Amino acid sequence: MRYDTLIVGGGLGGLVSGIALARNGQRVAIISAGRSALHFLSGSLELYADGYEAIVKLAESHSDHPYNSVGSEHLERYLGATKEIFERAGVALVGDHRRNHLRLSPTGALRPAWLTMSEYVTFASRGEIEGRRVLVVALEGYLDFYPEFVAAGLERCGAACRVVSVGLDELARLRESATEMRAANISRVLVGPVLERLAHKVRGLIEDEELVLLPAVFGLESSEPFERFRELLGSDVRVVATASASVPGVRMQRLLVEEFTRLGGDYILGDRVTDYRAEEGRIVALRTVKHRDEEFTADNFVLSTGSFFSHGLDSTPEGIFEPLFGLDISAAASREEWTARHILDTQPFQRFGVKVDGHLRPTIDGGEVHNLHVVGAVLAGADPVKEGCGAGVVVATALRAAEEILGHRVTRE
Ligand SMILES: Cc1cc2nc3c(=O)[nH]c(=O)nc-3n(C[C@H](O)[C@H](O)[C@H](O)COP(=O)(O)OP(=O)(O)OC[C@H]3O[C@@H](n4cnc5c(N)ncnc54)[C@H](O)[C@@H]3O)c2cc1C
Repeated sequence: MRYDTLIVGGGLGGLVSGIALARNGQRVAIISAGRSALHFLSGSLELYADGYEAIVKLAESHSDHPYNSVGSEHLERYLGATKEIFERAGVALVGDHRRNHLRLSPTGALRPAWLTMSEYVTFASRGEIEGRRVLVVALEGYLDFYPEFVAAGLERCGAACRVVSVGLDELARLRESATEMRAANISRVLVGPVLERLAHKVRGLIEDEELVLLPAVFGLESSEPFERFRELLGSDVRVVATASASVPGVRMQRLLVEEFTRLGGDYILGDRVTDYRAEEGRIVALRTVKHRDEEFTADNFVLSTGSFFSHGLDSTPEGIFEPLFGLDISAAASREEWTARHILDTQPFQRFGVKVDGHLRPTIDGGEVHNLHVVGAVLAGADPVKEGCGAGVVVATALRAAEEILGHRVTRE
C-alpha cells in the first residue's frame, strides 16, 4: 500500500497533520492503535497558561521547547488558523490565541484555556463570575460529576449557586449496573423524548438563575442533542467537564476523522505499527500487527504516537525509550530523577520525549532521519501539566510538519 505520507498515531496531532496534507492533495493514511487523549479532553485546547506573549518569548529563547522548533515566525499563523480547521470539521470552538479565557475543571478550579468547545461554560475573567446566579444540575446516580465542587469554585469568585439533582427513569435503568452509569452511555439515552423530559424537569427547577450548568453528557456523535436541549430549556445552559471519558472529546475525535476521510485520507484504526524498514537515512516502509506480510510505503512519515499515556514513549527500570523507531530521546538517565516526590510537584518525566531539530526531524543513534517528522505529545521539552500547553504544542507542531512535507504554507496569513 503506497501513500505520499503515512502517519503513525490518530489522535489530535496525527489528525491535524493528516487533514492539512490531504487538503493539499496528498494521498495520506493514518494508522492508529487505539483511543487517543482526545477521549479524555477537558473540552478545551490549552496553549500556554501564561498567555500568547509568553509563548513568543519562549519560542525564541528555549531551544529545546517544541514551540521553538515550530518557530515564532509561524506560530501566529497556525494558531490563528486552528479554529477554522476545526469548524470545517463541524467542531465549534470559542476563544482566541491572543487572550486566554477561563474554563471550569471538574473540581471547580478555573484554568486558562485557548479554545473551548462552544457548549462548555467559559468566562473571560474571574470578575465576570461575580454576582452571577447559577443553577448546578446533577444527574441522580452519576458519580463522575461533582456539583458541590463546581458550585464552590464559582462561589469563591462571588457567584450565587444552587445545586439540584434530577432523576429520570431511563437513567435509573442504567444505574442497575454501576459500570453502565457512564457519560457515553448516558449520552446515548439523552435523545428524543428522554431529552425533552430532562429539559422539562430542569426547567421546573429554575428559579431566578441566569445560568444553568450540567455535566458534559450530551451528543457522542454530534452537538445536536445539546443544541436541542438548549432550545427546549430556553435558558443559558452550558456543560462542565466530567471526571471520566469525555463525550464531547470523543465527538471531536470522530468529527476530525470524518473530515480526514472526506478529504480522501485512509484512517486505519485498531492496528499497531510494529517495525519499519530504512534505507540511506530514510524510512521506506512500515509493518503493522495486522499486516505482517504487507508493507505500507510512503515518501514521508509522521510520528504522532503521544506520550506515555498512549505508549508513544515507554519505560523499563533501565530507561525511557521511543518504542517504534528507537529515536533519540531527551530524558534523565537516573530513575530517581524521573519523578518528583510529591504528586502535585512539577514532574520531570512530563518533559521527556523525542529530540528533534528545527524541522521536527529526529535522529536514531545520532544519525539523521530525513523523511520522518515528529509531532505532538511524544516530543521532548514541554510540560503540558505545568505549562498548560498540551493541545497548542500538538496543533502547532502538526501544522509545521505538514508544511515541512509539502514545502509550502497550509494556512493563510
Ligand atoms: C488523559 C489526557 C487528557 C488530556 N487533556 C487535555 C486537554 O483537555 N486539553 C489539552 O490542551 N491537552 C490535553 N492533554 C494533552 C494531550 O497530550 C494533547 O492535548 C493531545 O490530545 C495529544 O495528542 P497526540 O496526537 O500527540 O497524542 P495522543 O492523543 O496520545 O494520540 C496518540 C495515538 O497514537 C496511537 N499509537 C501509539 N503508538 C502507536 C503505534 N505503534 N502504532 C499505531 N498507533 C500508535 C495511540 O493509540 C493514540 O491513538 C491531555 C493528555 C492526556 C494524556
